[in-house]
Amino acid sequence: MSKKEKKAFQLVKGMKDILPEDQRYWEHVRRIGRELGSQYNYGRIDTPILEFTKLFDRSVGAYTDIVEKEMYSFRDRGDEDITLRPENTAGVARAYIEKGMVNLPQPVKLYYFGPFFRYDKPQSGRQRQFWQIGFEAIGSDAAVLDAQVINIGMKFFRRLGLAVVVQINSLGCVDCRPNYQEVLSDYLKGKKNQLCEDCKRRVTKNPLRAIDCKEEECQKLMADAPQQVDYLCEACRDHFIATLEYLDELEVVYNLNPKIVRGLDYYTRTAFEYTISDQESGRQSALGGGGRYDGLVEELGGRPTAAVGMAIGIERTIKELRAQDIKVPEKQEYDIFLAQLGKEARKKCLSLQDKLLEAEVNVAENFSRDGLKTQLELANKLNVKYTLILGQKEIVDGTILIRDMEGGIQEVVDFNKAIPEVKKRLKLRDGEGS
Ligand code: AMP
Repeated sequence: MSKKEKKAFQLVKGMKDILPEDQRYWEHVRRIGRELGSQYNYGRIDTPILEFTKLFDRSVGAYTDIVEKEMYSFRDRGDEDITLRPENTAGVARAYIEKGMVNLPQPVKLYYFGPFFRYDKPQSGRQRQFWQIGFEAIGSDAAVLDAQVINIGMKFFRRLGLAVVVQINSLGCVDCRPNYQEVLSDYLKGKKNQLCEDCKRRVTKNPLRAIDCKEEECQKLMADAPQQVDYLCEACRDHFIATLEYLDELEVVYNLNPKIVRGLDYYTRTAFEYTISDQESGRQSALGGGGRYDGLVEELGGRPTAAVGMAIGIERTIKELRAQDIKVPEKQEYDIFLAQLGKEARKKCLSLQDKLLEAEVNVAENFSRDGLKTQLELANKLNVKYTLILGQKEIVDGTILIRDMEGGIQEVVDFNKAIPEVKKRLKLRDGEGS
């Protein structure tokens, strides 16, 4: 096979398989997300992975990194411009408008869990397909919701055992932000020669994006730049203070951080990120983030509707769990193993397995192996409590052996009574253990 051909049968760059051995992390994280969704009354929403490209141009913003460089966009067979969703706030806002959720009691609270796509440079903690869990509260400008959404994320990390801090900022609103943008733009214009190429363009188009530029020179310049919080209008200042007071009430640990501008155009007022100090590099790594988007629903054709939300990256969260060696519940274990010796026994065991499963006994097997030793080794590895053994002699006698894997004691029971006998023993064990 040629090198080129071989490549066609490998993972696409930036993609990852989630293998059976990874699933217990995924299930654990999903379970905590589901639990929080139901406790705080956020209904699950699943929107399509594909949306019209225009949705993201309009919401995320034409001059953002995501739209300029990172979208998986293509023209479909019907000549429509389509994009694999790079984030989900836009899709959820679209569904809110399209499905008339404005007629429901407000705010409408929704959460999601799913894959997202950004054509980014793959590196540690950055993939081209990655998963997020997100929470959105649409239809209210109350600061208490900003605090609730932030708190849900904090709870999520705390339940996982991760010590996360919130970095928080306010980006102002349509009234006060332009004023700040002008001040910032003037400041940057004076230093244009020292800025990176991207920031040179940003000076007039989107100066806010220069604030969190990763280039060292730009970062140095930004340290002395004017800060948004000093240019908030009264309503935005009150909203920000109220949010912080609610967070104090909830005992959420936060840092006021003027660098949190988020990379998307739709954010207004509160913007935040959940950060953790990375075990490898010692640097702060963002596990999630969010903010208010009071103008988005209207921008997409709905009525003026205030909203707030956040999203958490699943891969980065799981990476932290692994790096810190945090235990997650083991996958559902098997109770018994079904071992068979010979062709006849295999046949009988095949239907016995079905019957055991129907009787809700978790049964493992490896029907493709013959030797008893190999099968018992496997049973040991799976940590089962009992192994049922069916050989030639047992078939002739109409019996089956039940082997207690702890003591190695084997009992002969009537083949037709195998299931109730197994259930009886498992029940007794459970009773002892509780
Ligand atoms: P964002 O809204 O872009 O800040 O994304 C929220 C979270 O999603 C981030 O804090 C990351 O944990 C995760 N995330 C974003 N982009 C990627 C990516 N390319 N690969 C892996 N995780 C990502």
